[in-house]
Amino acid sequence: MRENNRSTAQESSSRAKRSGQRNRSSVRRSSSRKPAAVKKVEVKNADAATEILGKKLGLKPKAQPGHPSRRNSGSAGGNGGRGNGSHSSSNNNHSNNNHSNNNNNNNSNNSSRSQASSSHQGSRNKTESRSGKKLESIKVFPIGGLDEIGKNMTLLEYKDQILIIDCGMSFPDDSMYGIDVVIPDFTYVIKNASKVKGLIITHGHEDHIGGVPYLLKQINIPVYGTPLSLGLIRNKLDEHGIRGNLNVIHAGDKFKVGAFEIEAIHTTHSIADAVNYCITTPAARIFHTGDFKIDYTPVDSDPIDLGRLAEIGDSGVDLLLCDSTNVVRPGYTRSERVVGESLDGIFREAENRIIIATFSSNVNRIQKIIELSVKYGRKFAVSGRSMDNVVKLAMELGYLKFPAGSYVELNQTRGIPDSKLTIITTGSQGEPLSALARMAADEHRSIKLKKGDTVILSSTPVPGNEKSVSRVVNLLYQKKVNVIYNENADIHVSGHACQEDLKLMHSLIRPKFFMPVHGEHRHLIIHRQLAEQLGEKKDHIFILSNGDQLTLSKKRAIKFKNVIPAEDIMVDGLGIGDVGNIVLKDRQLLSESGLILVVAGVDVGNRRLVSGPEIVSRGFVYVKENEGLITDARKIAQNAIEKSLAGGFQDWNSLKNDVRDDLRRFIFQKTRRSPLILPVFLQI
Ligand SMILES: [Zn+2]
Ligand SMILES: [Zn+2]
Repeated sequence: MRENNRSTAQESSSRAKRSGQRNRSSVRRSSSRKPAAVKKVEVKNADAATEILGKKLGLKPKAQPGHPSRRNSGSAGGNGGRGNGSHSSSNNNHSNNNHSNNNNNNNSNNSSRSQASSSHQGSRNKTESRSGKKLESIKVFPIGGLDEIGKNMTLLEYKDQILIIDCGMSFPDDSMYGIDVVIPDFTYVIKNASKVKGLIITHGHEDHIGGVPYLLKQINIPVYGTPLSLGLIRNKLDEHGIRGNLNVIHAGDKFKVGAFEIEAIHTTHSIADAVNYCITTPAARIFHTGDFKIDYTPVDSDPIDLGRLAEIGDSGVDLLLCDSTNVVRPGYTRSERVVGESLDGIFREAENRIIIATFSSNVNRIQKIIELSVKYGRKFAVSGRSMDNVVKLAMELGYLKFPAGSYVELNQTRGIPDSKLTIITTGSQGEPLSALARMAADEHRSIKLKKGDTVILSSTPVPGNEKSVSRVVNLLYQKKVNVIYNENADIHVSGHACQEDLKLMHSLIRPKFFMPVHGEHRHLIIHRQLAEQLGEKKDHIFILSNGDQLTLSKKRAIKFKNVIPAEDIMVDGLGIGDVGNIVLKDRQLLSESGLILVVAGVDVGNRRLVSGPEIVSRGFVYVKENEGLITDARKIAQNAIEKSLAGGFQDWNSLKNDVRDDLRRFIFQKTRRSPLILPVFLQI
């Protein structure tokens, strides 16, 4: 638990933002696209899994001998038995061991895929309880956000109705050559389109909303979210040239989507207007935290609504889905206010221009920067496309407040004295095309850095961005500006709950079952350990992967593996899901060793080489400096063609293979490299 790993110490938001910038280009390119063809993956038998559950529920009345408190918790009905303290008994008595192993079959491993698919019967939400009463169940399918940080998407399926929670995207990893963004696998959703009642959004970060346009292009469903989340979604839909059925809700609202009774609860995070959701069906009550931190003193919004969380906990929550992003970090996440205080000091000292980079989605941080500018008599301007978009939207919706006249357009800043100007910009992650990177490289159209400027990077590098951040920081030092960044100042706090905050959330909600979400595998495991420390029962905690199913009733939860498709769907330009492993493998080869083309004219009838072969190299060697090698390669190719033709022409493929084999051997011998070899023959 002490592992202090930087790689998790970061905001998924920043990663999301970075991908957002990439996405924008792909989005623009794809706006005229025809309806997308999602990669086809066979839908496995989800209903069969339900059948297994039915059998289990029906056949396992003796699963918990000698455990009266648990028995009560199961049969208490309506409120999930929480009112009678069944859960707190497990909290208080976690050292007792009378519930040790006798409930193993709750845990999924023995309900394997083969078992699930051996059943033929259709879906049954109702299963026999011990008392003979029908016990309803609900299925939970994570499609994205498990074993990864990004592209969060969860489905709840109750009877013949599906509710979607979030639809994010993620940034491609280094092995995904040329991929713009990665979105969740919509196969199951599309296949069950008539069941889908709606999509609810926890907040407006890319890893929660980035996939929405791609989803809405395929099915038209109502989307529910707070004003800022929906504003950001509307921007995206505009870029894709589509309209959506967007329904504004506010924190505190209770609303119904199909059979799902939903309450949105105000929470604190690194973007304004974030909510938790409490979702009630007759089968179970589920609490989804979305992303959150526990901030008692946020900037310009109410503190997290702990009172309501406690009430919901009292009313009985069957399943908690909880953010795991920061679970490896001990202690408490610091308040956004801390950043305000350090920035205040910096503003007080600064004599010339202040140029400050932060995540465009962090509206609260931007509000703070604006307040400080006003306090110290500065006007502010905004630089960078995403910053411009978000700031304008936030002004429109009233999330940014400032006296009239303090905002100036970037191109109107010329007459303003340096000591009276703040520029808020993108680029806090060192993104090469961002406004800050262009300023650092002297390539920005309207802002030239000069000695005496104060440049602040108000963020911490997301894992993988450290190099680009330090490159920008070094360039800034060369410009002799005052550079303030995470290594020399306290100018960023995370938006995600650390261990002590997570403990508070668990203690308020006191769920019967728990499923950690939003995290790489180790985060999920560490979150399970944390829950166990709090007395939650090991066999009541479920670590799932994307595509698994958790079937839940008030009494039981059972995990099934690999039930629905949940691949990474890669978006490259206009193509969605058309780049798979084979294409990526080729791209990897090309990127590592380049390409050799062998072009020749062949008279098949007379088994004669008529022209060539010519050798063309791309990314392998520079031909002009390697004439000897290329000449030899040409001879090898020529011999191979002539030998193959002399042996009798079978088909083009075997001719190509002969040439490829000989050439590959020769080139590897000479260079220890394996470029992609592509023979191209023309029949003459
Ligand atoms: Zn997130
Ligand atoms: Zn977030």
